[in-house]
Amino acid sequence: MNKIIKTILVMTAITFISSCSKPTETPATSAADKANPQQTYHWKLVTSWPKNFPGLGVAPERLASWVKEMSGGRLQIKVYGAGELVPALEVFDAVSRGTAEMGHSGAYYWKGKAPGAQFFSSVPFGLNAQEMNAWLHYGGGLQLWQEVYEPFGIIPLAGGNSGVQMAGWFNKEINSVEDIKGLKMRIPGLGGEVMTRLGALTENLPGGEIFTALQTGRIDATEWVGPYNDLAFGLNKAAKFYYYPGWHEPGTTMELTVNKKAFEALPKDLQAILTVAARAVNQDMLDEYTAKNNAALKQLIENGDVKLRPLPADVLEKLQEVSDQVVLELSEVNPNAKKIYQSFNEFRSNVIDYHKISEQSYINARRTPE
Ligand code: CA
Repeated sequence: MNKIIKTILVMTAITFISSCSKPTETPATSAADKANPQQTYHWKLVTSWPKNFPGLGVAPERLASWVKEMSGGRLQIKVYGAGELVPALEVFDAVSRGTAEMGHSGAYYWKGKAPGAQFFSSVPFGLNAQEMNAWLHYGGGLQLWQEVYEPFGIIPLAGGNSGVQMAGWFNKEINSVEDIKGLKMRIPGLGGEVMTRLGALTENLPGGEIFTALQTGRIDATEWVGPYNDLAFGLNKAAKFYYYPGWHEPGTTMELTVNKKAFEALPKDLQAILTVAARAVNQDMLDEYTAKNNAALKQLIENGDVKLRPLPADVLEKLQEVSDQVVLELSEVNPNAKKIYQSFNEFRSNVIDYHKISEQSYINARRTPE
């Protein structure tokens, strides 16, 4: 990258940061001010995904590459796949401890530590990708998220979005709410709680363990992401019925977590580069999924005996009813969750009304050219 472009990128980054809300701003005599601008930083980034997994695993690699380029090599980030440095579901602890300076994962995995965190990954029947990004960056969501992670010494940033996911892979048809009873399903977060209340036996498994669990019959059903990622795991070889839509994850945000002390010790330009690179990765992942899911679904249908099915309307209605209860109860767990719920819910109500006459009405109106 030539010097002029690099300078423009850095200047844009700094302008961008200073125009955003400033929850990560540090005092005048901060570590950042004392940092040596010539120093090279070597960071570790741990993830919950297999190394280089399409979409999820590629995003942190892109972040590392862009940061290295924009910083002229002054901030170098080495990315570790799940289990390489720490297990998939210990990313949060590793970043909190400082074992790694950064992590890439999903906030709903940490519901045992901070119940309110679940609002920042995905809420059943909640916001889609476009709306999540709007709430986080222009509706106060990111600031609330930073407050939730503050006690853990972690700064969260949005680090990707899957778009609307699929409801998942099932080894039998779901024709009624009754069919959910006794179903052994891998489904994390609030969606998992909803399925549990409808009689399913749910658990969360790291992505890398899903295929074997489904193939061996340890579970009867699983959700993962969508066609692009599900094809990569070969889930079509382990179950036949592929249901939509992903009511439980309508626009899941992945998180980039940064150890607060490590972040504050960076010079300010590197802080800006990192923050803007995260914002770029956040959008980039959604672009990748949007571009790849359609072709992957065609491949899944053409190559095998996959049965693509919509969830019946009455099942979706019941799921929504229970989801509303589960989310309301989550808001009552502690004052922090209540505050997030109020912000989320208000944003959701307003955006639903507006999107009825904009996005939704347009999608309903358009058709494929003859
Ligand atoms: Ca999922």
